[in-house]
Amino acid sequence: MSEQFERRLTGQPVSPGIAMGVLRVEARGCEAPATRMILPTEMEQEWQRFEQALSRTEAELHSLKARVAKLSGAAEAAIFDAHLLFLRDRTILNKLRQELPARMHNIDAVYYAVVQNFMEVMRRVDDPYLRSRVVDIADVLQRVLKNMRPTEEAPGARSLCEQCPCVLAAYDLTPSDTADLDPNKVLGFVTETGSAVSHTAILARSLGLPAVVAVPRLVMDSRAGQQVILDGYNGELILNPTPETKEYYLALQQEKEKAYQALVAMRDLPSVTLDGRHIRLAANVEFAHEYAAIQRSGAEGVGLFRTEFFLLGGGGIPDEESQYEHYRTLVESCSPHEVIFRTLDSGGDKLPFEVLEEKEDNPFLGWRGIRVSLSRPEIFKEQLRAILRASAHGRVGVMFPMVSGLTEVREVHELLEECRRELRERHLPFDENMRVGIMIEVPSAAMMSDVLARYVDFFSIGTNDLTQYTIAVDRVNYRVANMFRSTHPGVIRLMRQTINAGIPTAVCGEMGADIKLLPLLVGLGATELSVGTHLLPLVRYAIRHLNYEECCNMAEKALMAEDSHTIRTLSRELALKSYPSLFE
Ligand code: PEP
Ligand code: MG
Repeated sequence: MSEQFERRLTGQPVSPGIAMGVLRVEARGCEAPATRMILPTEMEQEWQRFEQALSRTEAELHSLKARVAKLSGAAEAAIFDAHLLFLRDRTILNKLRQELPARMHNIDAVYYAVVQNFMEVMRRVDDPYLRSRVVDIADVLQRVLKNMRPTEEAPGARSLCEQCPCVLAAYDLTPSDTADLDPNKVLGFVTETGSAVSHTAILARSLGLPAVVAVPRLVMDSRAGQQVILDGYNGELILNPTPETKEYYLALQQEKEKAYQALVAMRDLPSVTLDGRHIRLAANVEFAHEYAAIQRSGAEGVGLFRTEFFLLGGGGIPDEESQYEHYRTLVESCSPHEVIFRTLDSGGDKLPFEVLEEKEDNPFLGWRGIRVSLSRPEIFKEQLRAILRASAHGRVGVMFPMVSGLTEVREVHELLEECRRELRERHLPFDENMRVGIMIEVPSAAMMSDVLARYVDFFSIGTNDLTQYTIAVDRVNYRVANMFRSTHPGVIRLMRQTINAGIPTAVCGEMGADIKLLPLLVGLGATELSVGTHLLPLVRYAIRHLNYEECCNMAEKALMAEDSHTIRTLSRELALKSYPSLFE
């Protein structure tokens, strides 16, 4: 049967590595049922099974409605009318009739895929009421699936998935879904939407999970329980791999691991170019479990600690004391190197600071980053005091996300000064000279960098957002992902302008970990790079094989180039020439 043949689905690789195992298909909490091929003669039987499940669900919903009406009144019970309507929704049933003969899978698996796609469309509609109905649809889906399950479920894909680590396939994963993934249970993931600079992709790299995004028809075309290989280098999901393919990937996995370990073994060598320019190489960190990896990677401290995952990941923002304890642990473990804390950057595609009554139309242009912190000064000051107090235990810097100009910098300085005063009054020690910096990720800040440089100690260029805001291309929208080019001449010129302002300038966006673009960043004059711990050994090796002067000459040419392709090619050629082994 065709399903036994190897098939390849292609997407965009966003986190390197290879994962081999059983596929788990899951979309937002509702796991896909086990999938099996059916024969044409089974179709009728499958429809009957489905019809019976619908009738059972209908009966359940009616009885629930009656119970709720008795307990809370008719108005509360009306919610089940919406469930009942959805249960027999024509659009869904027609789509199911179309997909079943096309896919020849058991009907619950096809129903699952059809409803998941429908839910994703609903999640994107403008009408907040309709959007909020997605939970009802999910509820109906779960009921129907439960009613289709045999009472004694045969050990199949479901139990397989529960027992062993799996490759996860989903329509989409939010950054918080990703943050929740347990690397002991999930070997890698693949999604139908997504982009390389979304926080979901960034987190995959932090967790060291191979990941591929933007695979068209993923949920429709894959089956839970299938054997798969996820190739995070080339962006492929291989369904039903042949023994030869498995052998090839096992060998590749071993080879890559060996090469990687050889790079890790060089962790104590300084990140200095061949002609002696030192580039501080620090780590980007999101989670506490990464702290050990900072040391292992040989990072010179932390260049970007994204505090939002710690602050918003649990139930409510930790108070000053808990934050202080947490920050202090990190600072002490990185000593004598510096840890740069970025204050809360909520909003955009990340966790919201507060659940907003109305969805923001343009969240990336809305209540995000420093704007949130400045509008909640008491909470912001708790974070600032905790960071200041941590500075008594090692070298600490603080920086602020999404600054657009001087007004925000002035406000931040005022609050910082207030915090210092308060700590002095409480007789709590802190470093009076703690470095204060800002992220340069909004074009207006880059254009004003000469002025801003008089007010702060350092800049850190967030190329993910700087690219997004300069080219006006949403970093998580896969429809415009091909336009997201950090080598756009407009972006490069803004970076140069920022570096020319003359204060220490780091690059902490994803561009810093792209070894093809490293010669460009070094040539533009970045003094520091901050990258995910997994990629750090690679970047160190690359820096050690570059010639700074050569990079500067190349960057001058790049600054005169007219398009992103030319700039990328110039940098890539120098990279290839300087460290060819990293491209093998
Ligand atoms: C950036 O924008 O480049 C950056 C480092 O910040 P984040 O990815 O967290 O928005
Ligand atoms: Mg950013």
